[in-house]
Amino acid sequence: MIRITNYLEKKLQEIGIYNLKELDEIGFIQAFSLIKNKFPSVTFNLLYELFCLLNNISFSDLTKEMKQKLIIEYKKQPPQYAMPDSILIEKYLNCALELAMIAYEEQEIPIGAVIVYNNQIIGQGYNQTRQYNDILAHAEIQAIRKAQEYLGNFRLNQCDLFVTVEPCVMCSGAIINSRIKRVVFGANEPKTGACISQYKIFENKAVNSHCQQIGPINQHKYGQLMQDFFRGKKSTNPLNT
Ligand SMILES: [Zn+2]
Repeated sequence: MIRITNYLEKKLQEIGIYNLKELDEIGFIQAFSLIKNKFPSVTFNLLYELFCLLNNISFSDLTKEMKQKLIIEYKKQPPQYAMPDSILIEKYLNCALELAMIAYEEQEIPIGAVIVYNNQIIGQGYNQTRQYNDILAHAEIQAIRKAQEYLGNFRLNQCDLFVTVEPCVMCSGAIINSRIKRVVFGANEPKTGACISQYKIFENKAVNSHCQQIGPINQHKYGQLMQDFFRGKKSTNPLNT
């Protein structure tokens, strides 16, 4: 029987695994992903240790080829990041919703977006296609441009994008190309949505290996402005509903 090190035991407890049976159920790759989310500095040695533990083999028996295979297996997995807590999701989606309301007031299709880095909003935008006569001026693109400018980098690897409505094909492409880590959307967009409604762009691991999507969060709350807009109704403040 392989002995579990104190270090590994503590890391497993941090992700809620207290015995081998629980580890076996979740699998060594998933367990490693969860630990890596919480402790980004852990190395692949921990992946090897988990594998050895589950397969009851000694760490010193692992060959270089086996280690490489384990890394390849791990990298095949879809991205999994620690979920932001629901309070933070609501906080940032509400910021996006306030921007969507500005768009509504300006007779634009009411969608708003914010980009968050280290718990700070570094980019924001709302749809301004009519004002700018520019089909590129979607909320997400505006927010991406501002975040890139803020960071001085076109890669936004450590950023999350919160948007009121499911992104379209163009914005999903920009999200992938800018390497945004996670996209959280409030409501589905049945006609143009590219995350789950018309396409499932973020599920295609061949072109996307880094962006996780979360949504819809609350169809009624975040979809209300769009419905009001297309029905020509005066908007009710969705933040009050
Ligand atoms: Zn778009």
